[in-house]
Amino acid sequence: MVSGSDWDTYLAAMIEAAQQETARLDCDGAQRRWRFANFGNALTEIHRGTARPLPCGAAYGYLSVDVDGRYATCHRTVGDPRFELGSIGSRSDDARAAFLSARLVDTQQPCRDCWARYLCGGGCHAEVTHAGRDGCDMIRGWLDFCLAAYPELRRRFPTLFSTDKSAERSPTHG
Ligand code: SF4
Repeated sequence: MVSGSDWDTYLAAMIEAAQQETARLDCDGAQRRWRFANFGNALTEIHRGTARPLPCGAAYGYLSVDVDGRYATCHRTVGDPRFELGSIGSRSDDARAAFLSARLVDTQQPCRDCWARYLCGGGCHAEVTHAGRDGCDMIRGWLDFCLAAYPELRRRFPTLFSTDKSAERSPTHG
């Protein structure tokens, strides 16, 4: 498990990888594409002006269901009663609405006061519940780096930010 000073090491490695990605993009010519998905996704979201009210689609765009017919907010929370949302035939949309409402970045603390909230979305519900928010400084450091990198990358590699290329981002993140 990542903890303590590991986060600084992790952030430094992410930034180094992004710098290598930038150097590679410089050499790739007209066919250039993102390979470092975390970097490409972050830059694409910044370019689009994305404002995330939630970190992902758990309980919003999808649910998971276990072999006994119980609904969970996502595949990572199956079997955890803290994330249960009823069962087949008696799904609780009130519980689902309450779950989401409590986790909006404009609702929950410390996200409500965090400058990075609309790019971060508040962190994976399952991870935050199990491990807390130890990595927030790393997330903010990474997004700070990406925001600073965006103007130059957009100027140097405009085709990466065309509508078609932006639509090619992988559906990861959060
Ligand atoms: S960086 Fe941490 S405090 Fe800020 S929005 Fe993300 S999870 Fe919330």
